[in-house]
Amino acid sequence: MSKAESVVETVDVLAVDDEQVNLLLLAGLLRRQGVNVVTARSGFDALKLMPKHDFALILMDVMMPGMDGFTTAERIRTDEATRHIPIIFVTAISKEQRHVFKGYEAGAVDYLIKPFEHDILKSKVQVFVEMHRQRMALKHAGAALERTVAELRSSALALSESRARFQRLFTSMFNGFMLLSSEGTASSTSEQWRLAELNAAMEQIFERPREDLLDKTLGEVLPNIESYWRDFVEQVAGSGKPAQFEGYMGELRRWLRISAYVPGPGLVALVAEDITARRQAEETLHERTFQDPLTGLANRALFLNRLDQAMERSRRRLNYQYAVIFLDLDNFKPVNSSLGYASGDQVLRTVAERIQDIARGLDTVARCGPDEFGLILEELKNSGEALRVARRIGQELLKVLEMDGHQLHFTASMGVVLGPAEYGQPEELLQDAALAMEHARALGGGKIRVFKWAMRKRAQYALTVHQSLHTALDREEFRLHYQPIFNLADNTLAGFEALIRWQSGDRLVPPNDFIPHAEQTGLIVPIGAWALMESCREAARWERDFALPKNFTIAVNLSARQFAQPDLLRYLARALDETGLAPSRLKVEITETLVMQNPESVVHKLRGLREMGTKVSIDDFGTGYSSLAYLQRFPINTLKVDRSFVSDMDAFENLVIVRTIVSLAHNLGLDVVAEGIETERQRDFLADLSCECGQGYLFSRPLPQDRALEMLGVCCPKKSD
Ligand code: C2E
Ligand code: MG
Ligand code: MG
Repeated sequence: MSKAESVVETVDVLAVDDEQVNLLLLAGLLRRQGVNVVTARSGFDALKLMPKHDFALILMDVMMPGMDGFTTAERIRTDEATRHIPIIFVTAISKEQRHVFKGYEAGAVDYLIKPFEHDILKSKVQVFVEMHRQRMALKHAGAALERTVAELRSSALALSESRARFQRLFTSMFNGFMLLSSEGTASSTSEQWRLAELNAAMEQIFERPREDLLDKTLGEVLPNIESYWRDFVEQVAGSGKPAQFEGYMGELRRWLRISAYVPGPGLVALVAEDITARRQAEETLHERTFQDPLTGLANRALFLNRLDQAMERSRRRLNYQYAVIFLDLDNFKPVNSSLGYASGDQVLRTVAERIQDIARGLDTVARCGPDEFGLILEELKNSGEALRVARRIGQELLKVLEMDGHQLHFTASMGVVLGPAEYGQPEELLQDAALAMEHARALGGGKIRVFKWAMRKRAQYALTVHQSLHTALDREEFRLHYQPIFNLADNTLAGFEALIRWQSGDRLVPPNDFIPHAEQTGLIVPIGAWALMESCREAARWERDFALPKNFTIAVNLSARQFAQPDLLRYLARALDETGLAPSRLKVEITETLVMQNPESVVHKLRGLREMGTKVSIDDFGTGYSSLAYLQRFPINTLKVDRSFVSDMDAFENLVIVRTIVSLAHNLGLDVVAEGIETERQRDFLADLSCECGQGYLFSRPLPQDRALEMLGVCCPKKSD
């Protein structure tokens, strides 16, 4: 309003008259009315003033020199900016001469006839000034209104835009939204929370249209909702603090992550994210990471994890007893090779089921390897309980398993570790259980062994031996000694047996101390290869230097593992070829046990040896379980009677055995070498039995290379160069 008032204060009125007196009079009269009288002495002056003022009224003398009042008025009217300004003509022309003004009817607003009455002038002017003031006030108010309207219009637009945007967001929100209200209810238990609002995504989560949900209580919508969801809503409502919760909603079969906050009293807003797909992916990942896909049992990783927990429990609880069983099927591998992998898989599944049937709910059963299983037995009353479980598993596995018309029986070797035991890592415990299993298996299958610390010590020793054998091979620390073999009939030299030793520093390690380890670890293959090559080289040199007897041979021991090498024949041929030794000078010694383990493949290789012209002798004969009839089928040359029979031939039983072996060998066309002859009596006995050859301390101990050469020099004439 102050703006309007200031406008009112400066209301200008223009007075135009050529008579100065008249102007002064008018100004004096009107000033008292709060009007600013602007004066002009001519029409021209008046026109000049027009743009500079916003006149409320013009008082115009009609009779003026130059440009009269009418003409001036006409000009004012032609200008758009000033045409609305009211004009009162002040004239001396009487009213009766009104016709003179006809043409100006439209423009003139009123007339004042001179001499005019002051009050009439004042009241007329007052009317116009008032009108002007009102017009001005109106104009300002209009502008303000217009501004307000414009402002309103723009804020309404913004509001509706933001509303629309919110609506779009709300309805198309990827996450579900719902507003719960406890309004109008006394207490706010979950039964009282009503769904006051929800969006489309929430409808999808509920799999129900909003009409079915709006205004219903949580209890009505989800009657079986898990208590943890209710507690969550209560907690947020009670504390007023926003919170997040992730859980499974059974009724909706979904995993949800819900963020909740309190937008106002009696309200809880929930934003729900459906994380079912993510959880499923996590679960599959978990299964893949921790489950054996074939049997559905825990895998090794999960097994170790659970074992770690059991170990932790045993550290915290005083009388907590647990045990680990490591189980290996003794005779599973042939199933895969003979019945195929599908049957093999089925067998493993059945075995897994049988083991699981015996384990209790709190035990862990896992598949730890192709045909290996692990069990963690928890909360045991005593250690005997673990062994009982192991035995029951053994019995369960023995039960016939029908597969493709075959009736299969299985045995398992089991190693048991009884907790609590001092282990840092679960892997160490599992390793010991596996070690105990190895010991059980060495006993011939179907056996159970409890782990003992001595087993670990032996295993550690084996490991060091393995390492040292490796370096021994690299550093060429192996040596061959040669034990002479004599013809018993005439005491002439029949050959030598090459026997390996390990020169470990000052110590000469006998073969029995390292050959079994080399056998176990497979190192026997390169070691044996070296021994073979070295024997051939040495014998070739003898052949070159000495006139050897016709049937002279060098005997080389071949281990089972070496003999099983697929390229054995090729390797032998190469050794002979490279050293230049005549094949007939080489005699390989294989043990009776080796022959009986896999007669079919052995026979095949023996035939190959015979074709090469190499001789074969069966070592340690009598200690294995040879079926004598079997021997007939083998292309062999010699039987070596084991030292144990020779050394104790005073016992009647042994004498009978030796005699039987010799006569059997002769019947089969084989000759016989007796091992370990230590006395003349033994030699005579064997000579009487027509045993062809013998070796033993009576004749000579195994000799190092130079001493063997000396002996050759004594027994055989040197070849002349
Ligand atoms: P083996 O093949 O039965 O060799 C005979 C063993 O009897 C030799 O023991 C020999 O020294 C020993 N011996 C010979 N005469 C007598 C005797 O009158 N009294 C006694 N008490 N012992 C006698 P050695 O040299 O300790 O070899 C032991 C075993 O080591 C051998 O038994 C053989 O099975 C194995 N072996 C030795 N060298 C090699 C080799 O190069 N390769 C493989 N695979 N095994 C080898
Ligand atoms: Mg031998
Ligand atoms: Mg022997």
